[in-house]
Amino acid sequence: MKKEKIAAIILAAGSGKRMRSNTAKQYMLLAGKPLIYYALAAFEQSPVDEVILVTGENEITYCREEIVEKNSFHKVTQITAGGKERYHSVYEGLKAVESADYVLIHDGARPFVTQDMICRTIDTVKKEKACVVGMPVKDTIKIATEDLYAAVTPNRKDVWMIQTPQAFSYDLILRAYEKIITSGDASVTDDAMVLERAENMAVKLVEGSYQNIKITTPEDMKIAELFLKEEF
Ligand code: C5P
Repeated sequence: MKKEKIAAIILAAGSGKRMRSNTAKQYMLLAGKPLIYYALAAFEQSPVDEVILVTGENEITYCREEIVEKNSFHKVTQITAGGKERYHSVYEGLKAVESADYVLIHDGARPFVTQDMICRTIDTVKKEKACVVGMPVKDTIKIATEDLYAAVTPNRKDVWMIQTPQAFSYDLILRAYEKIITSGDASVTDDAMVLERAENMAVKLVEGSYQNIKITTPEDMKIAELFLKEEF
């Protein structure tokens, strides 16, 4: 039987305004290494066959020379420029994949993705065609009205916060993204949502970890340093 090819798209474009720093957050140093190093190192060690790194147009050379070549990340086959919003960057990454049966999409700003998480995601996508990593929420969630009254309280056990990696059959997610890009629907905030909207398809949830945080604000950097020191 032909071996199925798995690609990963690692997202490192965008300006990360909420970090309030002159350096784009993907390149800020975490324990002496640029933040994006950690996700790239995890995927380099994983069963994924090739990695497409999506970054800002002006950071392509820096990424190639200072991160990919210096760390011998041989699985990175392409470094491509992203777009204005996250979903534009994903679409650029999808178009850069030459051929793949499955694709994992991961936020470069999540340094704590583990081998176990990547492998479970791959196993699940092969069975289900579409899956996303997430965790049940710890707090009670309220859906708010525009004038800030709590309108609905979903049952806590049914509410999950969604992380990455998110994994899909390649042809399926490419088609869904093409539909969303053509329709100009700018409200999508994750890849599963693209599939829900474009194909009306249910996406399987895979348990991630509470440590798989996305670095967004300066406080997250401090938490990440603590995670690295303590090896939780
Ligand atoms: O901005 P946010 O924290 O939601 O970004 C999540 C991930 O998507 C980050 O890894 C970021 O680099 C990436 N991104 C991107 N292109 C954009 C915006 C965000 O690749 N235009």
